[in-house]
Amino acid sequence: MTKSNSLSEIAFNPSCMEDYDPNAMSVQAARLYIQQFLNPITATEIIPVMQSLGRVLATDIISPSNVPNHHNSAMDGFALKVADADKNLKIIGTAFAGQPYLGELKAGECIKIMTGAVIPAGANTVVMQERVEMAGDGIRLNIAPKLGENIRPAGDDLKIGQSVLSKGHLLRPADLGLVASLGLGELCVYKPLKVAFFSTGDELIRVGNPLNEGQIYDSNRYTLFGMLSRLGVEINDLGVVPDNPDLLEVTLLSAASNNDVVITSGGVSVGEADYMKTLLTRHGQVLFWKINMKPGRPLAYGKVKGSNGQFAHYFGLPGNPVATMVSFYQFVREALITLMGSVAKPLPLFKVECTEAIKKATGRTEFQRGFLYEDLGVWKVKPLPNQSSGVLSSMSAANCFIVLSDTVGNCTSNTMVSIQLLEGII
Ligand code: AMP
Ligand code: MG
Repeated sequence: MTKSNSLSEIAFNPSCMEDYDPNAMSVQAARLYIQQFLNPITATEIIPVMQSLGRVLATDIISPSNVPNHHNSAMDGFALKVADADKNLKIIGTAFAGQPYLGELKAGECIKIMTGAVIPAGANTVVMQERVEMAGDGIRLNIAPKLGENIRPAGDDLKIGQSVLSKGHLLRPADLGLVASLGLGELCVYKPLKVAFFSTGDELIRVGNPLNEGQIYDSNRYTLFGMLSRLGVEINDLGVVPDNPDLLEVTLLSAASNNDVVITSGGVSVGEADYMKTLLTRHGQVLFWKINMKPGRPLAYGKVKGSNGQFAHYFGLPGNPVATMVSFYQFVREALITLMGSVAKPLPLFKVECTEAIKKATGRTEFQRGFLYEDLGVWKVKPLPNQSSGVLSSMSAANCFIVLSDTVGNCTSNTMVSIQLLEGII
C-alpha cells in the first residue's frame, strides 16, 4: 500500500492504486487503510479524576513526589535494630499509620508498629508480631531478622520525577487510583469524541410501535448504543431514517456538521433502495469495500462533508444485526480509540480447543460466535449452532468470537482455534 494517495484520490479513482481491489479487501488491509486517514482529536479539557474513567490523557504525568513519601512498615509487628536481635527488647512506644512515633530508638529498645506506620528513627528492620515472644514488659525474637526486612522504602511505588502515565493513555480504574496516590485531583484529557449514528431502512420500526407485515424492529441502534457506551464516546442517536434520499441526505449532512464521526447501518450494499452510496459519493470521500469476511461483507469508510463544510469520519456498516456488531468490533472500535487520541491495541487472540467440527471455506476471515466454557479445569470453545448474520440471539448467547483466518479451511473437532473474548475485566 502506498501512503501518498489521498482519500479522495482513492475514492474517486480506485485504479490509481496498484493491488487495490475494493471487491476483495482483506480484514487486515481494510484496517490499515482506515488507520492512515484518521486524524485524532486535539482539543483538551481539565476534568476531575473521578470523571476521567475511559478518557484519554492529553499530557504526560510525571510524579511530583515519592509514593510512599516515607519508609513504612509492611507488617504489624516491632521495629528494632538488627544488631539487637538476640536481646530482650523494651517496648518504648507505638507507631500507628498516620501517627508516627516521634522519638529515636536506642540500643535494646523496640517500637510496636502497625502496617503503614512510619519507621521510627534508629530502627532498621521490622519483625512481624507472630515471630516474637512476650518477655516481661518487653519482647524476645524467635528468628534472626534481616536488615530492611518488612520495610517499604520511600518511593517504592513511584519515585519523584519518574514518568507515571503517558499522553494517549486510556484511563482505567487502577490509573484513577494511581493519580490520586500522587495527590492529583484533576487531569488534562482529550475532549470526548462525538459520534452520531442512525439506522436506515423502510422496513425498520422504532420500538413501542406496532409492526405491519414485512416490518421489523430496529435493533442495530441498540447494539451500537451499547458498544459506543462502553467506549465512552459522546453519543448522538439520530434514530431510524427510511430509504428516502432526501431524508437520508438531510440527516447525513447535519450529522456530519455536528459530530466527529457518523456511523450508519444498512443500505451500503447495492440493493435497489440503497441510496447511501450515491449520497456519500456526492458529499464525501468514501471507499466502498466488499471485505473477505463473514459476517459483514459490505463496509464503507471515509469522510463526509457536513452542511457547515466540516468533515466527519464515516463508517457505513452492513444492516444485518450480527454483521453490524462484528464490523464494529473489527474496524470501528479500533478507529474510534485512535480518534479519541489513544493507541488502539489489537484484541488479544487466545488458542483453545474447539469441541465441534467447523465447515469453512478458505479465502475469507470468519468471526463465528462461540461459547467458551470450562471442562474439568480446561477452557474449551464450542461454536453456537446458528451462525446466520441476522441471528442476534446467538450473538447474545456468545461470549467470544472464534476467529478463523482466510488461510484456515474446514476444522475437525478438537482443533485448536483462536478466540477473541467479548468481555474483559472492567
Ligand atoms: P441492508 O444492509 O440495508 O441491505 O440490510 C440487510 C439486512 O439487515 C436486511 O434484512 C435488513 O432488514 C436488516 N437490517 C438493516 N438494518 C437493520 C436494523 N437497524 N435493525 C435490524 N435489522 C436491520
Ligand atoms: Mg436496507
